[in-house]
Amino acid sequence: MPITAYSNEAKRELDLEQWLALNAYSPQADPQLLAMPDELRAKATRDIECSGCRARGALLVRGALSRANGKPVGQAHFRFGTAGGANPHHPLCDFVEEGKERRNDYLASFASDRSALTRAVRDLVCRGIQGGMFTQGDMREMRLWFLEERARHAVTLDVTPALLQWCADMQATEEGWSPDQLPFSPEHGRLPGFDWDRAANREWKSRNKHLFKAVQFRVHFRRSTLKRPLQLLEQHAGATVLDPSVLREKYEAVILVAGFAAGYVFKVAATKPPTLFRGHVSDWGAAGHALLALSSLLLYLNEWDADRAGAAFALLAGLAPSTSGLEGNLIGLNPFHDYPAWQVINSARHVAAVRTDARPVVEQVDDIKAELKAAYGAWAAGQQGGADPG
Ligand SMILES: [Zn+2]
Repeated sequence: MPITAYSNEAKRELDLEQWLALNAYSPQADPQLLAMPDELRAKATRDIECSGCRARGALLVRGALSRANGKPVGQAHFRFGTAGGANPHHPLCDFVEEGKERRNDYLASFASDRSALTRAVRDLVCRGIQGGMFTQGDMREMRLWFLEERARHAVTLDVTPALLQWCADMQATEEGWSPDQLPFSPEHGRLPGFDWDRAANREWKSRNKHLFKAVQFRVHFRRSTLKRPLQLLEQHAGATVLDPSVLREKYEAVILVAGFAAGYVFKVAATKPPTLFRGHVSDWGAAGHALLALSSLLLYLNEWDADRAGAAFALLAGLAPSTSGLEGNLIGLNPFHDYPAWQVINSARHVAAVRTDARPVVEQVDDIKAELKAAYGAWAAGQQGGADPG
């Protein structure tokens, strides 16, 4: 899926449009890349390497057009050679499953807005390089820094899909806030229509507070948020992967800066994607990667201080526009690619570490329900011998 990749000849990170322009080919005149000479395609496989792992074998993928109205719905990009069937990426590369991701990321309905957004970020990157705020060397350093972090803080991926599902069942016992917060008491059973299921759920939750505490803030185990973690488990089961907790503060800073920068970038891109804007930056797909990559670079250059990086962004936006637009790009260099999914997986590891009863949550809740009913029964029996008002 990488929108940008590293060109050995140009010695910089480029998106496909920039690489074609540097090679005297106009994607504007031929957006579907129909007339592209074979030599140029062959050159790409030699010259371009993946930002994440230095894989070679780049294919040039034209922008997708909507079948319904012929409008562009996907941005032209690099893809790393599955022509011979083999996947050239390092198994731990963020882009190892680019085929699947491309489908998810590129064919959503707001893809044309997204192309405009990634171009707006590219424009900012070019300004920054031209104006001397950062260099290709800085981008390369950031890439190496992240690879080192990943190697230094690696853990064995021992989380299973069953554990993720268990965590989802665990969180499902949480109901929304309710004014009714009293713990169960046997007398409650006498209430007409007393909700035993709800009471048992709450009791289970209250006895398992330590499990909920093990889950990181803003991590949710829901069907929608488990999709990507489940894919990652499938790819990396038993492998050594990054422990995301060491990067947590840095990621929070990146989200802060990206959220701040977003308003400006939307304005420049002259798009108004309100549904996208309301969500969390990490859920924005390719546009999110672009903003997160730029925000990461600004933070990397400012000792991960969000205030300083925000100020740097404001200065960057005020720099003169690049004359050629070919200085470079860094969207493929988002070091926090897939970070939210890794957080979900990591929280599941923490839950497993403090869990003492691994039986299905439903089974445990059922046991508690029987226990509560028995407590009520014992209380009611005691009442019959005495002065039971009911
Ligand atoms: Zn790769």
